[in-house]
Amino acid sequence: MVWDDKYGPRRGFMMMVVAPSGVGKTSLTRRLVADHRDLHLSISHTTREPRPGEQHGLHYHFTDRPTFDGMVAEDGFLEWAEVYGQRYGSPRAPVMGMLEKGESVLFDIDLQGAASIRGKAAEDSVCVYVLPPTLAEMSRRLHARSQDSEEVIHRRLDRAKHEIIEWEAFDYVILNDDFDRAYADLAHIYHAERLKRARNPWISSFVGGLLEEPI
Ligand code: 5GP
Repeated sequence: MVWDDKYGPRRGFMMMVVAPSGVGKTSLTRRLVADHRDLHLSISHTTREPRPGEQHGLHYHFTDRPTFDGMVAEDGFLEWAEVYGQRYGSPRAPVMGMLEKGESVLFDIDLQGAASIRGKAAEDSVCVYVLPPTLAEMSRRLHARSQDSEEVIHRRLDRAKHEIIEWEAFDYVILNDDFDRAYADLAHIYHAERLKRARNPWISSFVGGLLEEPI
């Protein structure tokens, strides 16, 4: 689905999608970005090692600790956080560039990151939380992707319980018990948020023109 922007420029926004790992967030966010040419994924920097199949510049910018800390010192991140002992940050410059063009940015980040961005730009933020149908299903998905040790999976499940408690801080909550339905929900949220009056400054001159039409 590609949006035909026939009226005029929009004001872009930042959409944060947060979920515990193993909830299918990556598949949801990647598809949303692939389906919308005016939505771009913010590629985070991380100090963790790439997992099999992960590509530099596509999944993350894999960055060593001194380089990461240098970017922190230069205020190069919109936000950054430590997750499971590794640092993750959203680089500022590409996000600002996209927003200035009136395009929107999707962040696949954790709870702390979403809260931090919302704190800086509440009007331009939309926060979505994705829930698993059950913790047992989450555990099954984490085991199925066989990327993490038993201990890491246990830590992820434990962290999920602490995170889910925060659900009321989000604008929207989606239940991913069926991928297609969860994706449709996410896409509807994106479409509705894009239609908000404050994000469509073209309406003012359009209405001006309408009112000048003779009747
Ligand atoms: P993973 O190592 O499984 O790719 O990611 C671990 C966690 O870090 C996930 O919850 C992911 O959303 C989060 N994360 C990824 N990039 C960023 C970022 O730039 N900032 C923050 N705050 N969290 C991030």
